[in-house]
Formats: sequence, C-alpha cells, structure tokens
Amino acid sequence: MAPDGVNLEDHRRDSFSAQIFDAVVTSGKTTISADDLFAALRKAGLKRSDRRLSETRKALERDKAASAEMDLEAFSKRLAPENTALILRALRGDLIIPDFADYKHRMENIFEYCRDFDGGGVATYIPQLARVNPENYAVAACTVDGQQFSFGDDDESYCVQSTCKPINYAIALDGVGRHTVHRHVGREPSGQSFNELTLNDNGLPHNPMINAGAIMCASLIKPHHPLADRFDHIMSIWRSLGGGRNAGFDNSVYLSEKATADRNFALAYFMREKGAFPADTNIMETLDFYFQCCSITVDVRQMGVIAATLANGGVCPLTSQRVFQSETVKDCLSLMYSCGMYDFSGEYAFTVGIPAKSGVSGAIFLVVPGVCGIALWSPRLDRLGNSVRGIEFSKRLVEVFAFHTYANMVNDHRLIDPRKSNVERNRDEAALLCAAAARGDIGEVRRLVAAEANLDAADYDGRTPLHLAASEGAEAMVDFLIEHCACLDPVDRWGNTPIDDAKRRGADTVASKLENAIGQRN
Ligand code: GLU
Repeated sequence: MAPDGVNLEDHRRDSFSAQIFDAVVTSGKTTISADDLFAALRKAGLKRSDRRLSETRKALERDKAASAEMDLEAFSKRLAPENTALILRALRGDLIIPDFADYKHRMENIFEYCRDFDGGGVATYIPQLARVNPENYAVAACTVDGQQFSFGDDDESYCVQSTCKPINYAIALDGVGRHTVHRHVGREPSGQSFNELTLNDNGLPHNPMINAGAIMCASLIKPHHPLADRFDHIMSIWRSLGGGRNAGFDNSVYLSEKATADRNFALAYFMREKGAFPADTNIMETLDFYFQCCSITVDVRQMGVIAATLANGGVCPLTSQRVFQSETVKDCLSLMYSCGMYDFSGEYAFTVGIPAKSGVSGAIFLVVPGVCGIALWSPRLDRLGNSVRGIEFSKRLVEVFAFHTYANMVNDHRLIDPRKSNVERNRDEAALLCAAAARGDIGEVRRLVAAEANLDAADYDGRTPLHLAASEGAEAMVDFLIEHCACLDPVDRWGNTPIDDAKRRGADTVASKLENAIGQRN
C-alpha cells in the first residue's frame, strides 16, 4: 500500500525501480551504472540493443557516460515505465529460459564439440557457393522471450537457399489460404531427392519443401502483382520476421542460379504440362521469383530471430508483431518436421525430432515450439546436401536438452529442460530420489544416480533420500545409501537426522546401522 500522501502510481513505480536496483547493485555499493544494468540483462539473454529496452537505454545514456554511477533516486528517474516489466522479468528469472547463462554455456560446448566435424564439401553447382570459405561456422539462438546468444562467424552473411522454402510456404498460406495452396501442392515426403523430376499421383509437387513445391508456392505469392512488388512483399516479411532488420540480396548468386537452372525449368514445364499451376501463371516470372528468394542473405543472428518468430507461433519476440497466423505456423512446422531435411528428413525426425530446414549454402534452422529458434551455418555438406556440422549439432543438441518432440515420453534425467532453473531441476531431482528411497526402490535410485542425480540432494524441507529410507525402515536402501552418500547425518528443517527418524519409527536395526557407519567414518 502507498504511504499517505504518495500517489499510487508513483509508489508502484518507485517500488519496481527499487526491485531492479536491488537486483543489480553489488554488495557493499549503493550506486549502479547503466553498464551494470545492461550486464545483468545480458546475463539473462537481453541485448543492450534490444528495442524493448530502448527508452531506458536512451534515458540512461542521454547526459552521462554509460559508466556513470547513479543512486536509487537518480536511477528511478531514468528507468522508463514501458521497459520495467521486461527488465523485472529478466532479472527475476521469469523469462522462458531462467538460467540463460547456463543454457548459453552448454550451447557453446555443443558448438565447440561440433567444430571438429570437418568432413563433407561445399556446394559446387554455382561458383558463388563453391568459393565460400568452408571453415565458416556460426550458430545463434533466440527464445520466445527474445533472449539471444550467438557464436562464431555470426555477422557473416550467407544466402538462404532452400531455407526460404518454409517461409515462402507460410507467406503463400497467409496470402491465399491453406485450401488454395494445397490444391496446387501436396504435403507428403517425396522419398526422392529435392530436385527430382517427379510429381505425385495428382500431378502436383509432393510438398513445399522440395524444389517443385517451392516453385509452386512462389507462384502463389501475390500472383497478379508486378514482380518488383512481389519481391518487396517477401522482403518486408523477412524484415518483420527478423525483428526489423533488413535481409540482404546476393545478385551474383541470383544470376548464377538463373544461369544453371535447367532442372528447375524442367520442373516448371513438367508442372505446367500437368496443369498443376493456377490459371494464368507466368512460369518465367515464377522461376525468376524463386531464384530471387533463394538468393536472399541473412546472418545467423537474424535467422535465429526468424526461427524464434516461428517458435513463438508467428509473433516476433522482439517486436510483438504478428507476422504469420498461428495456423500457418502450425502447418509450416508440420511440413518442416516431415520434409525439411532433404532425403534425411525421416531419419532427422526420428533422431532429432525438431522441425528444421536446411539449404545447400550450409544453412539450417531449427524451431523448438514455445521455446526458441536456432540458426546454424557451416557450408560443408554431406552427400544428402545437409550441413555436416548442422546435423552433428542437431544430434548433440537433443542428447543434452529435452528438445525432441517426444522427449517427455521418456523419463531421462540426463536431459535438461532449460525452461526450469537449476533450483527447480535440483528440487525435482531430490523429489524423485526421495520418492524412490521411501519405496526402497534401489534400481530406480541407481538409475537416477547413473543419470548424475546427487544422492545427498535435499528437498525444500531439507529431507534427503536417507531421511526417507530411515523413516520407512527400508534396511536394504539404508545399506545402499550408507555406502554411497557423502553425509550420513543431514538435518532437516525440523532439526531431525535419519537416525532420529529411524528411532521414531522403531526401526532399531536401521538406527544402529547408521550410528555404526557414522562412528566408523569418524
Ligand atoms: N537454389 C537451389 C535450387 O533451386 C536451392 C537448393 C537448396 O538449397 O536445396 O536448386
């Protein structure tokens, strides 16, 4: 409640400023600087350049150097009310990935682990791709709350190639609707190479993620408009998907694509022969448009945000702008899941279990729905056309994080759900161990330990597996724990040790076993 004579709004504002100030100030100090604030936010995954912080950034940097010290009063005057909620959430650990520093660290380990996979070779069908430095390697991720990190060559641009296919599919869906789009393109994996000269039994391309289907989707984007307007349209969508950053365009790639596109021309004529295109489709313009789309350029940071917009159901996390309808995103992710990784799609869905799309430039992006988007670029390709490091990264990712679509079907405690903080994870671990110890289920306890659970973990009340086993008089379990626990007389919040619990239950053998063991250790 506001003290007498103080306006409620001012009071609330002051209390939010104080909470933020307290979360940033280091012990022994009474002032903070703008740099201190942004360092704390950076740790939570928010970039200084994040537009959602711009009012506060401007106010803090206006008249003083960013390192100037402010007391609470000076800070409160500069903190912009528009940004307060986000800053508070970040500092309280209320964003989707609460312990972002830990997440980033684990991601960096995966990134470095995959650097050694230097097999494969760059695409050579056009000189512009053949000339790309094969050593380029970058990854970026953005969560649905706009927390970001990137590693490696994260400011190098690359052409999107086939990673434009899901985007064009989504643009077509939003533009003319699912019914119309799927009158012209199927949604089954083709089981054949991405540029195979083949159509389904209805004379339509199998799906939008292979060349024939992508050419078809291009024909469905603002079909009756001038080509220049169609290109402006998709570029403005790429911009919105990426949080307001313009995507680029590589004219040499475009010209080369066009000059070496016999197969794509063949596919277009084949589809025209089968009557697959909407009436009045100009296939030359359509192909031109498709080549232009493949020649769009981004860096991984931008692509990470684009992937995050899909992970967030079509709303860009950095601007809150709805770019695609949620139904559109659902359809798009479904087809990325089943058809996004060339002839490796089935295997990828099985082992990695994340909707993803790759391109011959060595680009790949992954969408973990409701959590984050991840973009990776490493130009060396395997024989199926997927980035070698991209595939290794994906595999390792789901060995560390519970990101496989069906990860929650198995109770694998080694897998980390980054949506939970370390504290929550430890609490879950303690609860599982305590429950197994109380049941006397040694097999389950062994399994949890093999999954790196800590046998000395305590729950919120300070109860440990040993307390529970002793309370239940579970002798064999107590023997096992005596052998493996670091501490045999932990104290719970009521001041009780496992020996006290055993005695209270009348489990005298258990109590004396514990007393002996403690005696021996001493
Ligand atoms: N521009 C390429 C083609 O149409 C795209 C290849 C790809 O990334 O799969 O052949």
